[in-house]
Amino acid sequence: MMYNSTRDKSVRVTAAQAITRGISEEGGLFVPEQIPALSLAEIESLVSRNYIERAEFVLSRFLTDFTADEVNDCATSAYCEERFPGDHPAPVHMLKNGTAVLELWHGPTCAFKDMALQILPHLMRVSAGKTVGNNEIVILVATSGDTGKAALEGFRDAPNTRILVFYPENGVSPMQKLQMTTQEGGNVGVCAIRGNFDDAQTGVKTIFTDPAVKAKLAEQGRQFSSANSINWGRLLPQIVYYISAYCDMLKNGTIQLGDAINVVVPTGNFGNILAAYYAREMGLPIKRLVCASNCNNVLTEFLQTGTYDRNRTFHTTISPSMDILISSNLERLLFHLCGNDDRQTADWMQQLKTDGRYTVSAEVLAKIQALFDAGWCDDTQTKDEIRAIYEDEGYLCDTHTAVALRVYREYRERTGDTTPTVVASTANPYKFSASVLDALQSDCAVADEFAVVEALNALTGCPIPPSLAALKGKQPRFTGVCDRDTMEQTVFELLG
Ligand SMILES: *Cc1c(COP(=O)(O)O)cnc(C)c1O
Repeated sequence: MMYNSTRDKSVRVTAAQAITRGISEEGGLFVPEQIPALSLAEIESLVSRNYIERAEFVLSRFLTDFTADEVNDCATSAYCEERFPGDHPAPVHMLKNGTAVLELWHGPTCAFKDMALQILPHLMRVSAGKTVGNNEIVILVATSGDTGKAALEGFRDAPNTRILVFYPENGVSPMQKLQMTTQEGGNVGVCAIRGNFDDAQTGVKTIFTDPAVKAKLAEQGRQFSSANSINWGRLLPQIVYYISAYCDMLKNGTIQLGDAINVVVPTGNFGNILAAYYAREMGLPIKRLVCASNCNNVLTEFLQTGTYDRNRTFHTTISPSMDILISSNLERLLFHLCGNDDRQTADWMQQLKTDGRYTVSAEVLAKIQALFDAGWCDDTQTKDEIRAIYEDEGYLCDTHTAVALRVYREYRERTGDTTPTVVASTANPYKFSASVLDALQSDCAVADEFAVVEALNALTGCPIPPSLAALKGKQPRFTGVCDRDTMEQTVFELLG
């Protein structure tokens, strides 16, 4: 199986090359040349297997240049019990109202990013062994909060690898910030940037594709790669859990083999929902993909009208990991839906860069709308949903998951669609304790982050994840702040 760039189909690379490079030289993203098929019989055969075995099955379909042992080693190292305590890395929690909540936050940093970032370092180690010889890999990350910590934790002390993370100075939750600035490990660097996530992401992409920077790194025996969801190695492991959730719903009797499900995903960079799209393309019976946004609703508008317009106010919300106006992975979907037309895709992306907007054809919009539905909600509605789900179901969810649950509630009322539905739950509520506590008890006035955590625990009895509790009293290691145009300089300073 080979991979093409979305902006130049003549670029054709192996999975190992796609994973080590992260992004194609002309700025395109790597996509599989064809999508492997998954039959109902194969799905059925996965029902009795555990998560590691399900992952091996799916990964090996796409990583045809990896040996079976290599895939096995990656999956086993990533999804072991030491990394994902409990008996399932991605369990399905059934609400009383019949909705299946796919909990993706049982990893070390308590957000769904762990599902991919625990395995990416292993995929990259194997890939680098096949492609880059002895070059040191420098992973450059722009984060809206959760990717940064998950990447730092995944790559810490990985041999022959450095990891540098940029986060928006005022755009992450206190817990997210503390998680990153206290990161341990000899190969890590963290810096805040004055700007928002889009500034960080654009800065990172610019550094990546700058030939002068590339040459300078090469002189030092180094090369860049990416741990953002522009990297195929981030998306691929996310396909697994949608297939796994379907298997678990078969197992618990919610559905019969072949029944369609809907999938609702709280969306930012369009990575997680795109993985569900790929699962559907493989053959997983998914009827609709519902894209849920906060008031940075650029995707809702796009999926409803066909016009993507980032010329709008950027809002800071209580679901900060979705505060994004440039959703990178949409490019992959557009490429597929316009018939793998690289020139058309490159053209839209150029318009996005120069004018901040583009409009797809009526034909492409029709294809999009046959698959996707979309909705958004504001912070007040998000909090109302947290409270409603807690009161009705006794289930505590984080702000991002609440956006998805709220949008799903609205979707069901609007369409009357009662198809069994999976809602992706992307973070543990304690990552956003202040907003969650505020939703349950609006008169709370607790100042210190850990006092909030303890108050939320006292109120709900929901267990505090040990990795978050351990941050209490920890001193930050990384206090630097830079501007978007000094990011490149900061990269070389951090590399030393
Ligand atoms: C990253 C993140 C999202 C958005 O996921 P995308 O793949 O960027 O669409 C949603 N919720 C949480 C908690 C996240 O960390």
